[in-house]
Order: sequence, then C-alpha cells, then structure tokens
Amino acid sequence: CGIVGVVGNSKATEILLTGLEKLEYRGYDSAGIFVTNEAKEAHLTKSKGRIADLRAKISSKVEGTTGIGHTRWATHGVPSETNAHPHTAGEGRFVLVHNGVIENFEEIKAEYLTGVALVGETDTEIAVQLINHLATTKKLKAKAAFKEALNIIKGSYAFALVDQEEPDVVYVAKNKSPLLIGLGEGFNVICSDAMAMISETKQFVEIVDGEIVIVKADGITIENAQGETIEREAYEAQIDV
Ligand code: GLU
Repeated sequence: CGIVGVVGNSKATEILLTGLEKLEYRGYDSAGIFVTNEAKEAHLTKSKGRIADLRAKISSKVEGTTGIGHTRWATHGVPSETNAHPHTAGEGRFVLVHNGVIENFEEIKAEYLTGVALVGETDTEIAVQLINHLATTKKLKAKAAFKEALNIIKGSYAFALVDQEEPDVVYVAKNKSPLLIGLGEGFNVICSDAMAMISETKQFVEIVDGEIVIVKADGITIENAQGETIEREAYEAQIDV
C-alpha cells in the first residue's frame, strides 16, 4: 500500500500513476487517483485490481496540476472500487487518501456522523467525513478542520488531503506510517517511499509524527502540534534509477 501526491506540475496524472507503479511492490488490492487544477477541473478515478486497470480507465482529457493517489491494502471493508481511495466528503469538497488503521472510527461515527450517509465500509471514509463535519459545523478552513480531526483520530495513518476550494495545496500528516515530501523544481511531491518519486527529485524532507505539512508548488510549510513553524533541511536520497 502507498500514497503519492503532487502540487504544481502539469503532468500530475502521469506522475501519480508512475509513482503508484513504483509502489506496487508493497502489495495492494485496488488503487485510485484524484487530480485537479486552478480551474477546479477535477477528476476522481478508482479501480479494483492493478494500476494498469486504473491507467486504462483514465481518459487523456484529465489534465491537472494537483493530485493525490493511493494503493490500498484493505483492512476495513472488502477490496472494491467503492472502498478504494481517494474518499470524499462534502459533495466532493474534501478528498482524502490514507494508509493505516483508524482505531476509534466506530466512536467517531457514533459521536459526530450519525446523520451522514456513508458509501463504503472503510475507516478512511469516517476520517474524511469527520474533516468535512468539523469544517462545516465549526466554519473552519481545511487546515484547521484537518488539525482538529487529527486530535480526535487515534491509530496509524499517513494522510494526504485536498480541499477542492484550495486546488493549489495538499495537506499531509502522519502517525506511525511512512510519508515524505519531495522537493521539485517549481513543484513538490508526496510519497510513502522515496522510490516512488526518485525520477522527479532526489531531495526529500522527513515528516515527524504530529506535524501538519502544507504542500504548495513554491514551497512547503511544516507546523508542529502547537502550530509553530518548523524548519527542516532536505536530504539527498541515495537510490539508483
Ligand atoms: N484502513 C484503510 C482501508 O482499509 C487503509 C488501508 C491501507 O493502508 O491501504 O481502506
């Protein structure tokens, strides 16, 4: 299973698909990508089975600059197109990919999401619905809603979140699951493993559990749980391609 993401590159779709192919070795049962652009022309494509099947479903019309992708290793809910990530909430406003397991998803559902119609059986759908619930009921922007959701969610996760109202940013966070940022020339990428993005960049920045990273085309901002900005140097990945 794995996560990829990109912000600020007109080849977003291809970068995500190639990245997912490089993560195939980790194992998966389904895959999906979400891509959008400045004009908010968005596309969500999911498929059970191979990345090749996902690739075949994507029309050449899908041009985007921002996107997230996922290979799923099902833990909650059968392998299916519906349960494949990305998951959405708020009529498609929030789009989320997740690796890991949310331990308190039943409690979250009972406490915050009683009136919400769910489409699948994953713990991840609960997380994106929680973000949307907090954003809507408390009138929070994406970053604040994401942060508040992370204070409620217990378990392991690598998350990449897009708010369609801000198509030029991806928000990421992790806890006990791997996730890295890669620094490109005029764009930035996200991946579970540097291998996935080594043809885009060799410069990677680690994320520490509890931080939120705001990924934009022209830079990244790392915030710790207290909301302080953290400076962290990139390292050069030593991988032969
Ligand atoms: N727990 C999530 C699911 O079952 C994510 C699994 C994964 O890490 O791929 O959909």
